[in-house]
Amino acid sequence: MRSVTVLGATGSIGESAFDLLMRSGGAEAWRVMALTGGANIARLAEMARALRSEIAVTAYPEHLDDLRDALAGSGIASAAGPAAIVEAADMPADWTLSAIVGAAGLPPGLRVLERGGTLALANKESLVTAGRLVMGTAERTGARILPVDSEHSAIFQALGADNIEDVSSVSITASGGAFRDWPMERLAQATVAEASTHPNWAMGQRITIDSASMFNKALEVIETREFFGIDPERIKVLVHPESIVHAFVTHRDGGNIAHLGSPDMRHAIGYALHWPKRIDLPVAPMDLASIGSLTFRAPDEERWPALRLARQVIAAGGAAGAVLNGAKEQALDDFIAGRIRFPDMARAVEATLDDLTGRAGFTTSPSDLATVLDWDQQARQIAAGWAARHGGR
Ligand code: NDP
Ligand code: MG
Repeated sequence: MRSVTVLGATGSIGESAFDLLMRSGGAEAWRVMALTGGANIARLAEMARALRSEIAVTAYPEHLDDLRDALAGSGIASAAGPAAIVEAADMPADWTLSAIVGAAGLPPGLRVLERGGTLALANKESLVTAGRLVMGTAERTGARILPVDSEHSAIFQALGADNIEDVSSVSITASGGAFRDWPMERLAQATVAEASTHPNWAMGQRITIDSASMFNKALEVIETREFFGIDPERIKVLVHPESIVHAFVTHRDGGNIAHLGSPDMRHAIGYALHWPKRIDLPVAPMDLASIGSLTFRAPDEERWPALRLARQVIAAGGAAGAVLNGAKEQALDDFIAGRIRFPDMARAVEATLDDLTGRAGFTTSPSDLATVLDWDQQARQIAAGWAARHGGR
């Protein structure tokens, strides 16, 4: 019986993973070691009971009593706090899904790699903030990372046994998010509710807003660079409103292998869960005849400055990824809280990068978790200061 742990079980990715586990035999077929969540205690307890998890962990100590109450009589252990989530990641599950949102996903994901486990990685912030450290740890311990972000799963699948050195480029697609066709001058008026709707994918609120600003794609360009080790000049982004082609690999001989499918994360999660096997998954069949046409266009970097910032971060290396992500997370909090306007998010991130670029140690890739988290904190502080000075609607 394979053992699994889901970090971030109560989120959008976590719910899809839960659905796949339940459909493939649930507690009879899987030994579930740990499920972790945040504030949604009722759902976490419900999932833990359904899958007979050994332990359920909330990120927030103030919710521990509620979690205990919700699990009373089940025999399922409970714990709380970031350190308890890292301990849950340390349990020897055969397969661990990292589906926590934000830089909070890095410490437990890294622990899975340190113990040489298999990490199905949805948390893109891990590779963005600490790509060298994450990939270096996996190499050192022999841990395996299976990409779950749909574009990276698509590249992984399209690449097959081919070597990344033999491809001339990889292209990842972007739907363009909520504001793809908005006039530029309207973006300053965009509300949080408007930014939180996605034309094709049902996802958590933060990644949905990041899709509208293209920070999501910016993170994915960096993720592609770190995971596949491919030069930034060979990573391309295409706006593809239908979200059917997730990525394609262009080989040096002129051939292109694309990965297509309905926009449903259960494909990428299920692929990683059963890899290297393929099994039936509950993903709607792709019906190209009814879709009719697939369209593509080059992204407009004036509309989406995040894409330019991603290139800048890759060129800078060192701590730039941790800084970009920390500033972006802070700017997103500030936008959601109504402190800054939609286009200000990219301005806050750019100002933070400019501010920290000359600091001692910036050009060195962080070699431990504490250094990554230190850059993350500095970036959040500077971005918050920017918002305090420039915000106010
Ligand atoms: P959600 O916001 O829906 O879920 C996040 C999960 O993390 C929830 O279980 C949440 O708990 C938990 N959580 C929140 N804050 C913390 C914290 N500080 N410490 C520990 N756990 C926490 O996010 P998504 O599922 O949309 O995304 C998860 C990750 O996967 C992100 O990195 C995202 O970029 C990536 N991803 C998501 C895709 C998608 O389709 N959604 C596609 C590709 C990548 P609770 O809800 O109980 O508070
Ligand atoms: Mg993606």
